[in-house]
Amino acid sequence: MKKLGASIVVLASSLFFIAGILFLIASVSQASRILVALVFLAIGTFLLVVGLRRLRRLAEISPDALKTGAIELARRLDGELTVAQFRAEYRISQEQAGEVLEEMVAEGAAKREQREERVVYVVTGLLPAMVQKRCPYCGAELPVRTPLRKCPNCGAPLEITKT
Ligand SMILES: [Zn+2]
Repeated sequence: MKKLGASIVVLASSLFFIAGILFLIASVSQASRILVALVFLAIGTFLLVVGLRRLRRLAEISPDALKTGAIELARRLDGELTVAQFRAEYRISQEQAGEVLEEMVAEGAAKREQREERVVYVVTGLLPAMVQKRCPYCGAELPVRTPLRKCPNCGAPLEITKT
């Protein structure tokens, strides 16, 4: 179901709500109409839930949202990810995962690297920020560009670490 389909479902749900309310009003003169009203309201509720859920999912897997997602995932995975990891994380098709990563390569946001049997996408632009100077004693973290060699808090020599 694409976005248009999901929007139509949400729209249809409001028609069922209107019909349900009309029958509810009409039940004043004929009590059996309340059953029809309840059926319409139930269908309306069902369609609304299905439609909104689908719209939310479509927003989650829009190319832009997925690119942000790929960067977040790469940050957790030492700056690189595979199509398989990406598709598993966001429950998307192999095709869609590959397309998003290839788009990132085309935009210069990632690099494709062949590692033996598998293809790995290295998210560029992430790497410099991942290297930090860190104090092994108090845990203070400083940007790698800082000229300091000793911890400003406790004076211990700083180490360069990958986060
Ligand atoms: Zn320190």
